[in-house]
Amino acid sequence: MTSHLFSDEHICTHQGDEYERFHGAVVPPIYQNSLFVFKDFDQLTEAMKDEQNSYLYTRGTNPTVEIVEKKIAALEKGEKCKLFSSGMAAISSAILTFLKAGDHVLSISNIYGPTTKFLTYLEKFGISHTNTLNTELDNIELLIQPNTKVIYLESPTTMNFKLVDLKAVSIIAKQRGIKTIIDNTWATPIFQNPITYGIDIIIHSVSKYLGGHSDLVGGALITSKETMDHLFYHEYQLLGGVMPPYEAWLLMRGLRTLPIRMKAHQESGLRIASFLENHPSVKKVNYPGLKSSPDYELGKQQLTGYSGLMSFELANNSFGSVRNVINRLKQFQIGVSWGGFESLVISPNYGYNSEQLLNSGMDPGLIRISVGLENVDELIEDLHAALQAT
Ligand code: PLP
Repeated sequence: MTSHLFSDEHICTHQGDEYERFHGAVVPPIYQNSLFVFKDFDQLTEAMKDEQNSYLYTRGTNPTVEIVEKKIAALEKGEKCKLFSSGMAAISSAILTFLKAGDHVLSISNIYGPTTKFLTYLEKFGISHTNTLNTELDNIELLIQPNTKVIYLESPTTMNFKLVDLKAVSIIAKQRGIKTIIDNTWATPIFQNPITYGIDIIIHSVSKYLGGHSDLVGGALITSKETMDHLFYHEYQLLGGVMPPYEAWLLMRGLRTLPIRMKAHQESGLRIASFLENHPSVKKVNYPGLKSSPDYELGKQQLTGYSGLMSFELANNSFGSVRNVINRLKQFQIGVSWGGFESLVISPNYGYNSEQLLNSGMDPGLIRISVGLENVDELIEDLHAALQAT
């Protein structure tokens, strides 16, 4: 059952337990099987008629995966969810659902790099793409073409964490019959439910906060029953990038603590953002939870909280300075990805791409941190020491 009546905490801890179905096991089992067998051929032919709701083959529906799909659909206040083998599998399936040759996609502001690469890849199938760094609504309206079929966005955006007005964009899109897709990985369903603002498809990289333990790679796609009825039989089953049962079980384990982890990420994130904002070596902090953020008011309307991923720009924005700060950090590990228990640091400045960064609206002195679940005073001390290297 997908219920919107239960609290996030209830959904994460107990929805789908079904003790009687699982012999009283307090944790549902991993159905580590590829196929399901039937008593007679008639039963199989019946199941074939409705593969979406039958246990037939794990590249369709699997009981362990299904429990987690129901939890995530309920958290996002959506009708249906399917889990994928990665965030990119969910993103590419979502985008392909609404497109054919001759169509156009408008993507707003800084979106995850491989998503842009995927949109560029689609050019060979006759699908064009425009990206705009300007999130103003007038500008978005101006860039819509007669063949625009999808508006793709992230809010907050990748690396510079700007917000996009979700309700307004979804109204603009609906008036023109355009579908909207959002990557909601940063906010998680705990802090933002884009379906309630009219967005058509929500995707998540569950490799980040939803899993939360940096031990799995996966994706989720949440949408209406109508859209899923198409997507399940096409982009989900035919491209086949589905989540295996063991990963789903790990994700179920991660989800149990999602609300309390997000609370902790938020508390530490806000403290660290305020510390950085007041540091003389820091020119700017990109984090919508700060009162000084130009997006603070919009954030209060559409977000109920803030996660622990942010970036800051060094006053001295040379590559040497960026490298020194990153190398001096001891508590923040150097690595890609984010949203796990561990604090991480990275910069999009690799020492040879400053011009490219500036063209993408990013300062060369930008450093991104993912604030984990460590002691926040120790993290601040670590940042304080490292910033002396600029
Ligand atoms: N969306 C965002 C915002 C990301 O940062 C990432 C990965 O870093 C992805 C999507 C892709 O997810 P995955 O690595 O699970 O394919």
